[in-house]
Amino acid sequence: MKIGILGGGIGGLSAAIALKQKGFDIDVYERHSRPSEIGAGIVCWPNACFVLEELGILDKIAAVSGALTYMNRFSSSGDPIGSLDINALNQLMKYPSYSIIRKDLMHILTQRLLELNTNIHYQHNVDSLSNNNGKVSVQFSNGKNIEPDIIIGADGRMNSLARKYVNNDNTPIYQGFINWIGIFDCESDIFNDLCVADYWGVGERFGIVPISKRKAYWAGGVVSKNIGDINPDGFKSELNELFSRWPEFITKIINETPLSRINKIYVHDHDPIDNWHKDNVILLGDAAHSPLPTSGQGACQALEDAWHIANCLNEDIDDIPKAFKKFTAKRMSKTSGITLGGRQLASSIFNQDVAFCQQRNLASKNTDYDMAIVGMAKGWSSGLPIC
Ligand SMILES: Cc1cc2nc3c(=O)[nH]c(=O)nc-3n(C[C@H](O)[C@H](O)[C@H](O)COP(=O)(O)OP(=O)(O)OC[C@H]3O[C@@H](n4cnc5c(N)ncnc54)[C@H](O)[C@@H]3O)c2cc1C
Repeated sequence: MKIGILGGGIGGLSAAIALKQKGFDIDVYERHSRPSEIGAGIVCWPNACFVLEELGILDKIAAVSGALTYMNRFSSSGDPIGSLDINALNQLMKYPSYSIIRKDLMHILTQRLLELNTNIHYQHNVDSLSNNNGKVSVQFSNGKNIEPDIIIGADGRMNSLARKYVNNDNTPIYQGFINWIGIFDCESDIFNDLCVADYWGVGERFGIVPISKRKAYWAGGVVSKNIGDINPDGFKSELNELFSRWPEFITKIINETPLSRINKIYVHDHDPIDNWHKDNVILLGDAAHSPLPTSGQGACQALEDAWHIANCLNEDIDDIPKAFKKFTAKRMSKTSGITLGGRQLASSIFNQDVAFCQQRNLASKNTDYDMAIVGMAKGWSSGLPIC
């Protein structure tokens, strides 16, 4: 039973590890010449940490991560408007919440796969998938073709050729806002409590996630009707124009982050679809469901997919259509809910109506965060043996 995984991102690598641990014969095909590092950082919430433990790498992740304690919300003038106790969430879900630089997560996943003697074929850009007499083959731009028994499409959200094969359409939907993301280092201890800080303005947002006392990743977001250019020369002036009247700490972070560590992203997602497989091709991660960053769950859900696909195929290896159906049934409603929840939060955070934003901040201030944590724990644990 040969399995070919298209895309060596968080979903593809973690699925490869989970399947290899069950004894499957795996090859991963990645278009880039080395592990992809797009994005600044990730929060591995407790549901993701459960999977990372199952993959045998939670201790390695812990060694380079921040153990987050609180998520504090502020208005754009710095007034506190709510605080979520991450330790309490962790206790309910029985796993930690770790913030990690994406490059470090990718490195640990890649090392684990190498330990398991799995091939990652870099510089293999998928050109197309086609069905010749019942067997699906994958054509790469370098001229190679493969015809594995199972093809897992983990080729991301922006132009997944596996999604195109399964769903006929793979066009992502621009959600009307930009994120500048960056990684900030400093020489003194300033993030002593490892608290996430989330500032909400009117059509604007700035979030800071510490990794250690001296390192954090951040995201500055703003509504933008149209997709414009991405010119690094303009990043700092664009950010300063937006955030110079926000708390001074934000300006410091923007100005002290090297330009080489800032990226600008026009943020897209996909509508949920009700089918993730066709013939012997199954989708996972962003190729199947790609929630907005406001969900905080994109990578976490890709990790959950990895754990579930390995279990489903292991249980029903003689009946692949049944295994695919089981996987889809287990994953569809949770991931659709997260996608829609991400959109709902984005429409509130990036709302441009001043009165709405005042009410929103008041509602945040009056939220019962103990209750909110119970709801989060229930939703994020669903389908996993953790609560
Ligand atoms: C700005 C931003 C911030 C985010 N922050 C968070 C966060 O804090 N927490 C969180 O959980 N999630 C976050 N996410 C979401 C998260 O990054 C994704 O959900 C996650 O990376 C999905 O993993 P994946 O493997 O499915 O896709 P990806 O990680 O995108 O990997 C897809 C891989 O496929 C490869 N590929 C693509 N096309 C081809 C091709 N034709 N041939 C071969 N290979 C191909 C790519 O090079 C890439 O390596 C964020 C996303 C964005 C945009």
